[in-house]
Amino acid sequence: MSFFSYREGELHAEDVPVRAICDAHGTPAYIYSRAALENAYLEYERALEGCEHLVCYAVKANSNLAVLDVLARLGAGFDIVSGGELERVLQAGGDPAKIVFSGVSKTAAEMARALEAGIHCFNVESAAELEALNSVANAVGRPAPVSVRVNPDVDAKTHPYISTGLRENKFGVTMEEALRVYQRAAELEHVEIIGLDCHIGSQLTDISPYLDTLQRLLELIDTLAKAGITIRHLDLGGGLGVRYRDEEPPSIASFIAAIREQLGQRELTLMFEPGRSIAANAGILATRVEYLKPTAEHNFALVDAGMNDMIRPALYQAWLDIQPVSQAGSGQRAQWDIVGPVCETGDFLGKGRDLSLNQGDLLAMFGAGAYGFVMSSNYNTRGRAAELLVDGEQVHVARERESFTDMIRGEQRLPGS
Ligand SMILES: *Cc1c(COP(=O)(O)O)cnc(C)c1O
Repeated sequence: MSFFSYREGELHAEDVPVRAICDAHGTPAYIYSRAALENAYLEYERALEGCEHLVCYAVKANSNLAVLDVLARLGAGFDIVSGGELERVLQAGGDPAKIVFSGVSKTAAEMARALEAGIHCFNVESAAELEALNSVANAVGRPAPVSVRVNPDVDAKTHPYISTGLRENKFGVTMEEALRVYQRAAELEHVEIIGLDCHIGSQLTDISPYLDTLQRLLELIDTLAKAGITIRHLDLGGGLGVRYRDEEPPSIASFIAAIREQLGQRELTLMFEPGRSIAANAGILATRVEYLKPTAEHNFALVDAGMNDMIRPALYQAWLDIQPVSQAGSGQRAQWDIVGPVCETGDFLGKGRDLSLNQGDLLAMFGAGAYGFVMSSNYNTRGRAAELLVDGEQVHVARERESFTDMIRGEQRLPGS
């Protein structure tokens, strides 16, 4: 089910015409659907009914306060990777007792703040981090609940930049090291072992790497049990893929069902950290065609969103669908390269797209709700886009468009100038 659909040739976000949103709030603009976010999150919840579980939305996928608020109201947990994300979740009304803290180089200050907030678990990614966490917990006077992130050495068969479960990656500890790290954790006075964690990559479209991972982790849980170490929760991370073009990822329901089947009757709380599968298809990026520039080599459509707004095509060779907001289609039909205003040849949103375009047309880039706005920057001193959250017929300004004053906040000329 899509919450972005055409009605009489006009793209709507839930019940609001995208054109009306762009006229009122300008472009480029990220437009999110509350119902789409809720629908995806609740699909996880429904699939996990009858089994002890916690679904922790991966904040880094889309960390806007309004987005976090929507999920917090449904009782979601949150997976954070920085102290900044912790503050966002708290500001949005998220329950600290449902927060897990991932990330390879947490600072002592971040650890202390998370302990004081009373988070559910630290996903520890190295032996050195475990020692540091133990000292911080001692200083704060609160034991730190931990799980160790293991790297199961499975190939997630995804883009190398978003594959995290191979030995060569910087994430987690190897299967061979895991027992030693857990034994050390058991010796330490200020950490309490509660779980086992992994996260093998992103945009996975096949279940088999998850099932291989689960197999290996269950064996590790048995090995740990023999060493007298009890694991209460198993966190399988995030990474479930979405359809951007013609990918065929499993549905959330069938993904969870396959895992539950392999898990059998084990007494374990199941945890997940989905980001993309909740947010990607809950958002579009709307942009306007400034100029058309057909040349002998390429037909360029110069739009007002650039790689500073949406870097995924440049960074990961990501393909995202781009369609006109109005389907009237009176424009010039060609294979268009949709390019932005940034001074880089890598500044494109899509290449060779078969579209009928006029100067001034509005375009929508689909699947932009995850890893879109959050990866945006001020490169070329371009203010970041507005973010709007649509809820039925209502449009909520989730983040104002960034002004020049916002951009130079904290900067200073030299003294005496
Ligand atoms: C990025 C990340 C996630 C979310 O991944 P998605 O592919 O967006 O589901 C979950 N857990 C960790 C540790 C991550 O780094």
